[in-house]
Amino acid sequence: MELKVYPDPILAQKCADVEIGDTSVLPILEEMSKKLYEWEGAGLAAPQVGVLKKLVVIDVREDPATLYKMINPKIVWKSEELVDSKEGCLSLPGLRDTVVRHERVRVEYYDTNFEKQIVDGEGFLACCFQHELDHLNGKLYIDHLSRLKRGRFLSKFKKLQKEKSEKETTEDEE
Ligand SMILES: [Zn+2]
Repeated sequence: MELKVYPDPILAQKCADVEIGDTSVLPILEEMSKKLYEWEGAGLAAPQVGVLKKLVVIDVREDPATLYKMINPKIVWKSEELVDSKEGCLSLPGLRDTVVRHERVRVEYYDTNFEKQIVDGEGFLACCFQHELDHLNGKLYIDHLSRLKRGRFLSKFKKLQKEKSEKETTEDEE
């Protein structure tokens, strides 16, 4: 499993529903969970590892720690109250920006036993649900920025990526 980084076109694609009872997705969720901790993310959606299926893992390191392994998650309710959410994304490394999210959301999903679950999230967890579920629709958090801010973000990001690849090339030569 490799991390897909912007502008990989797979990040802009929509994911397919998982068929209920399709156990072939379970090892994918298992591997995604491992990668979530290895890459130190709060959440990881399947397109970020090149899989176009509605699968998400989330652990916002709350106490007690909860690892959500979600199949076909969908937001079924969102609060009218909005919050500013400072976000980063494993697929957009090195930068963060502030987007507006719903303060609370209710998410319906299937667990790894294919039983329907409902979870309410607020604050950071709610923002994380919204961020990861966006990935399943081919949407990144920067798509919530104004055109001007998004443009600024992307030019900064491209510069950062260029510096990184130049650094790697120099290191290869040494
Ligand atoms: Zn992300």
